Amino acid sequence: MCNTRFEGKTAVVTGAARGIGYQCARQLAAGGATVVLVDVLEDALRQAADKLQAECGRAALTCAADVTDEAAVEKLLDEAAEKTGRLDILINNAGITRDDLLLRMDARMWDLVMAVNLKGTFLMTKHAARHMLRQRYGRIVNLASVSGLVGNPGQANYSASKAGVVGFTRTVARELAKRGITCNAVAPGFIKTDMTDVLPEKAKEMALAAIPMQRMGTAEEVARVVAFLASDEAAYVTGHVLPVDGGMAP
Ligand code: NAP
Repeated sequence: MCNTRFEGKTAVVTGAARGIGYQCARQLAAGGATVVLVDVLEDALRQAADKLQAECGRAALTCAADVTDEAAVEKLLDEAAEKTGRLDILINNAGITRDDLLLRMDARMWDLVMAVNLKGTFLMTKHAARHMLRQRYGRIVNLASVSGLVGNPGQANYSASKAGVVGFTRTVARELAKRGITCNAVAPGFIKTDMTDVLPEKAKEMALAAIPMQRMGTAEEVARVVAFLASDEAAYVTGHVLPVDGGMAP
């Protein structure tokens, strides 16, 4: 798995303590990047950093922060750039669900999902871009979702937030293209992580039935595509949304 495609680069990954975020961090570290793991819980972060060290032989920096807190976001990105001398790659992976049918969904569930999935992506991107613009180099990869492309009953808030991530990605790509910064998104389908483990069996059966490949994806399968978009192999790709979904999206 080890290679040198991210040697000398600094990468920040949000929601990196587990699931897809951890696997993204692993791909980047295995490619030689200095990785900054961002998540809300200090303990979970420390465990993830230990695991990364054991699996890739690389020490990661950790930062406990909530991506919805602008002051914390600005501080963590400034510190990451100061400590490592650069800020090359941002993976906006932190995301949550608060599922319910439209008429049962209260405004709090709506606001919370929008805050983490959409505002968090905006804040991280805005403050990372300041550093990337100075370097005239950057790779931003956002985690959207098939739900944001085609909709999904019970996920009005989540689908709207991920559709927002798609529009945000396309706009940021156009704004920053002249400065050597790319911005793309991946849209995972149904991936086996803690987020989907909690779904009722009935919901899992229905989701499986909608996947042409007839299996859930793995976090590593998503992370490999994220790593491609973060690498120089994808230098001429920007403003795109790549489904990683076993054929689910039309
Ligand atoms: P996950 O297992 O639930 O992990 C998400 C991580 O994000 C957790 O460690 C979580 O911390 C952290 N997080 C949540 N809110 C945060 C905040 N405000 N600030 C910083 N970190 C925060 O999720 P996943 O399944 O790996 O999903 C990762 C991304 O892929 C999400 O954006 C998700 O929407 C997207 N996605 C996933 C699937 C899927 O099938 N799994 C499909 C499509 C898209 P806590 O431990 O404190 O909650």
